[in-house]
Amino acid sequence: MTKNALITGITGQDGSYLAELLLEKGYKVFGLRRRTSVPIMENIEHIKNDIEFIDGDLLDLSSLINAVRISNPDEVYNLAAQSFVGTSWIQPVLTGQSTGIGVTNILEAVRIVKPEARFYQASSSEMFGKVVETPQKETTPFYPRSPYGVAKVYGHWITVNYRESFDMYACSGILFNHESPRRGVEFVTRKVTDAVARIKLGLQKELRMGNLDAKRDWGFAGDYVKAMHLMLQQETPDDYVISTGETHTVEELVDIAFGHVGLNWQDHIVIDQKFVRPAEVDLLLGDHSKAKEKLGWELEVGFKQLITMMVESDLERIQKSLR
Ligand code: NDP
Ligand code: GDP
Repeated sequence: MTKNALITGITGQDGSYLAELLLEKGYKVFGLRRRTSVPIMENIEHIKNDIEFIDGDLLDLSSLINAVRISNPDEVYNLAAQSFVGTSWIQPVLTGQSTGIGVTNILEAVRIVKPEARFYQASSSEMFGKVVETPQKETTPFYPRSPYGVAKVYGHWITVNYRESFDMYACSGILFNHESPRRGVEFVTRKVTDAVARIKLGLQKELRMGNLDAKRDWGFAGDYVKAMHLMLQQETPDDYVISTGETHTVEELVDIAFGHVGLNWQDHIVIDQKFVRPAEVDLLLGDHSKAKEKLGWELEVGFKQLITMMVESDLERIQKSLR
């Protein structure tokens, strides 16, 4: 029998890859979409006719109740959030409302309309923040360092609480940074690969950045959405860390990206205090052995392959727009 899935955050990076995966598996996919003056469908243009869109917002409980009613989901993936750490200091209240309380809103909608639906919450390695142990795993205590991280901790625990209070099949995936050519341009990987392409094509000379010493565990979004799906296919709900198990500095990232097109990053990068954060997460490195063992999850794309894939994609996109 065809399964129904409801995805919030369908227009974002992960929403687009997850929708592709579920469509391939024969799901009927419903996407919660915010009303915008000009529709932003870049990531899902190629599959938009296969998705049934439902208007709604994580801040509006009645719209979520309506979305769960219409979609009658077997699985709900809550990917919607104000997802950029930098913006969370500029819009801390909105971040708390959507990235934090928004999770309660969608859980309530599921509990009221279809409590037997399986639920996935997009938790984040940013919850580990100022890390208390390395590598970070499911049992590592949280110490968030931004309003975004704080809101994600709330979203994580409310998901665990609904599982324990109402016996709902609710899982929290603690995903480390994952990237792709569809990543928002303000995130460091895409900011760099987009700038490298522009500099290579003579459209830009310098790139202004913040802290190049920060270390992240960066994987490919296409690999990570497979883990989300696997989490909802188990006998019992649980929480899992998803990561590559490798960490790299931002400097290594720029070195690979500039080096791929024969450029020297030192000739182009300017450190600008504007991009240095009020509180930094210095090091993230995840231990995904539980996911590997229990879900059989494997990653396919490594760090260097990921960055060069993104540079190539930005080069191609910009060249096309110039023609
Ligand atoms: P994106 O920023 O690409 O996508 C976020 C999505 O949320 C967009 O579709 C956006 O819609 C939607 N959205 C934002 N606010 C609301 C709202 N109030 N109501 C309804 N929809 C809303 O994020 P990613 O795809 O990269 O990430 C998916 C999820 O995973 C997020 O929750 C993120 O915080 C989390 N996460 C991501 C990681 C990563 O490295 N990518 C790591 C760990 C967790 P619109 O297009 O209208 O703006
Ligand atoms: P985050 O881990 O969710 O905050 O993902 P980002 O891609 O936004 O940032 C990753 C790391 O890159 C953080 O430690 C940032 O401080 C660092 N960084 C350094 N320069 C920049 C920059 O210009 N933009 C962004 N977004 N991050 C930067």
